[in-house]
Amino acid sequence: MKEEQPVLKGKTLTELTALCSSLGIQSYRAKQIYSGIYKSRYTSIDQFTTLPKEIREVLKLKTILPEIKLGRELISKDGTRKFTFDVEPGKEIETVWIPSADGERKTICISSQVGCTLNCSFCATGLLEYKGNLHAWQILDQILQVEHIVQDRATNIVFMGMGEPMHNYFSVMKAAHILHDKEGLGLGAKRITISTAGVVTGITRFIENKEPFNFAISLNHPNPNARSSVMDINKKHPLEKLLEVARRFTKDLDRMITFEYVMIPDVNMGKENAERLVRIAKSVNKCKINVIPLNTDFTGWRRPTEEEVGEFVSYLRAKAGVPILNRQSPGRDINGACGMLALKGVRNEGSNKT
Ligand code: SAH
Repeated sequence: MKEEQPVLKGKTLTELTALCSSLGIQSYRAKQIYSGIYKSRYTSIDQFTTLPKEIREVLKLKTILPEIKLGRELISKDGTRKFTFDVEPGKEIETVWIPSADGERKTICISSQVGCTLNCSFCATGLLEYKGNLHAWQILDQILQVEHIVQDRATNIVFMGMGEPMHNYFSVMKAAHILHDKEGLGLGAKRITISTAGVVTGITRFIENKEPFNFAISLNHPNPNARSSVMDINKKHPLEKLLEVARRFTKDLDRMITFEYVMIPDVNMGKENAERLVRIAKSVNKCKINVIPLNTDFTGWRRPTEEEVGEFVSYLRAKAGVPILNRQSPGRDINGACGMLALKGVRNEGSNKT
């Protein structure tokens, strides 16, 4: 059956080489196939004209080069573009193209799962039904397709779309390595950011494998009990353990870790929480904090005013001793900003989560 045939996209060069030899194709051809997919961006086997016709025939018969299927596109007034893709019939994801205002930075925010199992109370993705992990090729194809549509290349990739990357560790890392590989998409490791809501086991694996990519933890609340009430994952992976592994990250890898912090008035922006956050920053030390105002309103919570953000950020800047980045939310008008990826395009316009 066609579905069971090996997929050429999303395989490492080593895996492609093994596949070639199992098909009776000389192993050096693997590199031509690999670079055909990621450098030449071929989408059908007929385009691999560097390969002899007989090899193309074998590949056409025995393998597949599939694509995820573009659904809708929404364009923001700030230039952000959000795309939906069917990875399989009935399994839809979102991918966002985010050019910076000065045009220098072009980020693609990619999904790692169809929906998410985590159910963080402020994030709209948790409202969707979870429909499974993405394969490495489906993760990479988001980039190949978006770059083709916008006729440009991303300078940065963030694994901050739908899903929890650490719950799909194997495929996420495989995709990240192909993305980084010079013979693949060739993006610098520091231009690839993987983000987690705090899966301690996944972070430990990341450290032990000495992964070269940027790494972010969505901290979001500095109080252990309160964190559990907004992020279920804190019950399984408590804050204390999360901070322990964050410190281990900075020591063992000798690199900076990023904390993401969604600012929610009356939830995590008060004096006590600001002080706790400062203590966390000091205890981890080699870290930076990206703060971002709440983008959604389905929770009944509100977005902080500029004044509230200013006060919170000034306090952190004065006390924490680590870089504090006040993040913008491009694409809010098309529900393309952080926490808004829930397919409908209208999620922030009324529905209440019960
Ligand atoms: N599951 C991973 C990857 C998703 S990243 C993770 O949690 O890190 C999505 C980012 O958007 C996270 O940093 C999350 O904290 C943030 N976010 C979620 N809901 C948000 C909202 N309503 N407003 C602003 N940021 C939000």
